[in-house]
Amino acid sequence: MGDHFQRIVDAEATEEEAGPLAERIVDWLISEGVITRETSGEGVYSQSADEGYVPGPRWDRAVAGPAEPGWPPGPVAVMTGRDYYVGGQGEDEADCAICPRCDAKTVVIDYPEEFEADEEVWRPFRDAIAAWRRTGAGGVACSACGALVPVTEWRFGPGFDLGALAFDFWDWPPLGAAFLAEFAERLGHRTGEQTGKF
Ligand SMILES: [Zn+2]
Repeated sequence: MGDHFQRIVDAEATEEEAGPLAERIVDWLISEGVITRETSGEGVYSQSADEGYVPGPRWDRAVAGPAEPGWPPGPVAVMTGRDYYVGGQGEDEADCAICPRCDAKTVVIDYPEEFEADEEVWRPFRDAIAAWRRTGAGGVACSACGALVPVTEWRFGPGFDLGALAFDFWDWPPLGAAFLAEFAERLGHRTGEQTGKF
């Protein structure tokens, strides 16, 4: 079960908010015994973090079922800075984008006929994401309603999230629903959850 991650992305925190918010979450996880202050790079393959916090004595508080043999799990990496995150097989595009104004769905990868993104369709999103990463702002006009919508407000298909703060749990058993709910509540923002393999 190596090199598998569960990721929580804060989809709304700004880059300025990300650092202090990350510290508050880490303090909470340490106070719960889920992680320790000690860090390790072993088994961490996060896109912008080389190490993570080593599990604490009560790491099982975060997971859904009873602890299985073969654990304990790996470190928990914290990533800050505007970026896009992909789960699953790690495609570089979302399979679809839904306009938050009119709910129209823009299909990027036309399953099951296609397995690759329509570059024409994805280009405005790619450009807006690049602009947002650079400057903190980028918009895409909805082809259905015409609204120019900040790229961070579009709803992407599963396994594709934008954010300035994300957490990777490396090789953890499935995280519990109550833990994920409290995590999101403490972030105070919309979150995306992903799973994937390095
Ligand atoms: Zn629209």
